[in-house]
Amino acid sequence: MSPKERPHWHNWAGNQQCTPERIERPSSEQGLIRVVKQAAATGRRVKVVGSGHSFTGIALTDGRLVQLSNYGRVLSIDREKRTATVQAGISIARLNEELDKQGLALENLGDINYQSISGAISTATHGTGRAFGGIATQIIGMRLIAGDGSVVECSPEKEADVFSAARVGLGALGIISTVTLNGVKAFNLHALEMPMRIDQVLESLDEHIRDNDHFEFFWVPGTGWALTKFNQRTDAPLATRGRWREFRDDILINNVAFSVLCRIGRLRPSLVPSIARAMPSSGRAEYVDKSYRVFASPRLVRFYEMEYGIPIEAAREAVNRVRALVKQSGLVPIFPVEVRFTKGDDIPLSTASGRDSCYIAVHVFEGMQYQQYFEGVEDIMNDYGGRPHWGKLHFQTAETLAPRYPEWQRFQQVRARLDPEGRFSNPYLDRVLGPTRS
Ligand SMILES: Cc1cc2nc3c(=O)[nH]c(=O)nc-3n(C[C@H](O)[C@H](O)[C@H](O)COP(=O)(O)OP(=O)(O)OC[C@H]3O[C@@H](n4cnc5c(N)ncnc54)[C@H](O)[C@@H]3O)c2cc1C
Repeated sequence: MSPKERPHWHNWAGNQQCTPERIERPSSEQGLIRVVKQAAATGRRVKVVGSGHSFTGIALTDGRLVQLSNYGRVLSIDREKRTATVQAGISIARLNEELDKQGLALENLGDINYQSISGAISTATHGTGRAFGGIATQIIGMRLIAGDGSVVECSPEKEADVFSAARVGLGALGIISTVTLNGVKAFNLHALEMPMRIDQVLESLDEHIRDNDHFEFFWVPGTGWALTKFNQRTDAPLATRGRWREFRDDILINNVAFSVLCRIGRLRPSLVPSIARAMPSSGRAEYVDKSYRVFASPRLVRFYEMEYGIPIEAAREAVNRVRALVKQSGLVPIFPVEVRFTKGDDIPLSTASGRDSCYIAVHVFEGMQYQQYFEGVEDIMNDYGGRPHWGKLHFQTAETLAPRYPEWQRFQQVRARLDPEGRFSNPYLDRVLGPTRS
């Protein structure tokens, strides 16, 4: 097949694209196995893609691209045990709704819900909350298709090493077919969102993290302001913003108006500082809503992002260094710098492996230069043994990353066993994990 005849795929942000040999959309586990076996027989590579929300080339392939659009059903929900087993391609949005119908919820989420569950866990997607881990920590079982097409069922009791590694597997260990999740009783969140002076936020940072279930803030570069979000679990009844207010805040202000400002800033960079100074005035909001409706918001403005996990103790100093970098460099990205916190976990390649973490994320509007800004921030994060989000832009290699993960070798052993021929690899994985060694 000539390259022109090949299908074309690109990610959400539009900064990664590939021309796979073929796109497959299986609707059963047998179908997934068939794709892997055919690829093995013909020496092709295979890559699964979730909803394409990673900014890195993690989901790219020139071999067989497996899309999970026909593979996203709920297989079972046990209300008593609060568990659910789902096909890997289910979106987090749909999963939230299905769990809610049964009086259940996921205990913590990131700030969007478009991802597939398997894509989200594969890159260690996380939200915020000192007492809570990333989404992968809520997984208690999985069925995985290895490089030879065999199915490995894993859990803390069965194939424990595979389970441990595959919760954040970067798509390098096999195709996740189904996942079993631990839910919690559905709960409401009391949301308080307001602008605060960044110095004030940092001065009381430990208290904010300690005293709130889910605290995060967005510093607006070029200003002394941050937009803060204090989300508390509550038994209080719903007191939502109302449809109009929700539409105004989430769509008109945070997306439509913001998009216009970004476009102006891209055309006339000299206006960016004034735009940035106008942003924190977006006001205060207080409401109570279902947890999953508070955690996730619509994101219609496209951007490029880098995010680093660092030890939580370094949060204040690292944020101040990013502020100093922006000031000294004269860069004024329109997008805020997002800062979040999670509990450490025991997953070998999780960005929070073995340590409570602070996450610092930097963004630029689509089509804008990010190299200098992101490299500058990465240099700072390197000083704290920073671990880049696997789905967000960074410049690390296996050599620089291996020493940052105490359980790196354990992951590599599982990879060598499940995918000795590198069937699930691609140039991004070769760069960040090194070639497969069987
Ligand atoms: C607007 C936006 C907001 C975001 N917000 C957050 C956030 O709040 N917190 C956060 O941590 N991250 C966030 N991210 C990053 C995002 O959560 C991750 O990049 C996530 O991996 C995307 O999920 P996906 O379904 O699109 O996966 P994809 O990007 O499609 O795939 C990611 C990886 O998972 C692998 N994969 C997918 N399904 C399978 C499977 N069944 N078996 C094996 N491997 C599989 C792919 O091969 C690939 O390696 C955000 C991204 C965007 C664009």
